[in-house]
Amino acid sequence: MKNEFVYDIAILGAGASGLMAAVTARRSGADPSIAILEKNEYAGRKLYATGNGRCNVLNVTAKPEDFRSAEGNAVAFIAKVFAQYGATELQKAFAGLGLDTVEEGEGRLYPRSLQSASVVHALERGAFGGMPGCGRPAELIAGFEVKTAEKNAEGLFVVAAADGRSVKAKSLLIASGGKAGIQYGCDGRGLKIAESFGHRIVKPIPALTGFVCEETDLLAKLAGVRVRGTVRLLADGNVLSEDTGEIQFNKDSVSGICVMNVSGYYRRKDEERFALVLDMMPEWEEEALADKLTARRNELGDYFLDALLPEKPAAAVLGIAEMQSPEELAHLLKSLQFTPVASKGWKDAHTTSGGIALDEIDPRTLESKLVSGLYAAGEVLDIDGPCGGYSLTWAFASGCAAGSAAAQKR
Ligand SMILES: Cc1cc2nc3c(=O)[nH]c(=O)nc-3n(C[C@H](O)[C@H](O)[C@H](O)COP(=O)(O)OP(=O)(O)OC[C@H]3O[C@@H](n4cnc5c(N)ncnc54)[C@H](O)[C@@H]3O)c2cc1C
Repeated sequence: MKNEFVYDIAILGAGASGLMAAVTARRSGADPSIAILEKNEYAGRKLYATGNGRCNVLNVTAKPEDFRSAEGNAVAFIAKVFAQYGATELQKAFAGLGLDTVEEGEGRLYPRSLQSASVVHALERGAFGGMPGCGRPAELIAGFEVKTAEKNAEGLFVVAAADGRSVKAKSLLIASGGKAGIQYGCDGRGLKIAESFGHRIVKPIPALTGFVCEETDLLAKLAGVRVRGTVRLLADGNVLSEDTGEIQFNKDSVSGICVMNVSGYYRRKDEERFALVLDMMPEWEEEALADKLTARRNELGDYFLDALLPEKPAAAVLGIAEMQSPEELAHLLKSLQFTPVASKGWKDAHTTSGGIALDEIDPRTLESKLVSGLYAAGEVLDIDGPCGGYSLTWAFASGCAAGSAAAQKR
């Protein structure tokens, strides 16, 4: 069935950036007609699952330097977006949608209800509700799995769904996410569509995820344990990224927030040897730790690792270090090595590293430099951040910038 109505803006995806783009376009004063095309039967499916159902909606301390792109050109790009839509403006935008929030440690903002549904409902009110002073409500076209998009002879975007339906619009905003959370609807189709318009795609890899590692015997001994420490991801001996926090051992993998934060750097090239090196005692230099272990052994005998480490890793480390001299133990505790064979993949990943290359997108409007009227926002761009509300901060900020620019363009 062909819908002959020509929308001002078609938004591909009713997720974080797509919904926020619609809210901002409605508030722009330009009164655009907006269609949001969503393959799921309802909006915000992934948002419901965020933050373990609580949705870490923003990070109020987020600055451009906290983010990265696989090509290393994210900071100046994001600075232009945050100059218009930084964390303070986003917080105000959510307050205007009736979302009360609470701040937890390190700038992490959650809905006051501690329920992600509150975030989805706030965005739905803004996108589809009868908000005073807003333009026409956006139309949600659900169950619409976008397969292709092209520009016709009249310069209109024609977006076609798998079931034969199609929608025409003057502008198209790709807000489809990357490939992370494939079970919530993100399969990389938006990247293929951007590519079909001539955009360069930086190879997407799973980010904010754990690593499946070779050392299954050791992991079997550690499974279920969490320790605080520093993790370093190395390629051919060079440190690609490091972070400190909770490390979690599972039967075949290593995960935890700090491990997730380094995972976006795991880009395999031929012959490169990767290692995940864990420092379970980052508070002490190796020599100082050896002295400390010697003193504790003299004082406490066999119980010298008690309270420094949980029992399982303590036993595992003691089991590995045959000589068990304080120096060997200190070395092992500060550089326990695992060999990643793969990341845990798209189902486990919270975001995507890679995506639409930034040099072909205007950072002030998020409009394509190649195709007039084509915009992109959120995870589909080559930008990712650490755990702690950064991914959504980027999705909402870029959604605002793209939605506002697309509305003004008409
Ligand atoms: C389990 C989990 C927990 C997370 N928790 C947090 C958190 O607490 N805080 C945080 O900052 N980040 C979190 N993230 C990351 C964050 O959710 C994403 O980075 C963010 O939602 C990306 O926004 P987006 O608008 O780019 O894409 P999405 O929010 O993924 O939205 C994309 C939308 O496009 C739709 N779509 C895709 N392809 C098509 C198609 N072909 N046709 C039609 N529709 C399509 C999808 O169904 C989806 O609704 C989490 C991610 C996961 C997986």
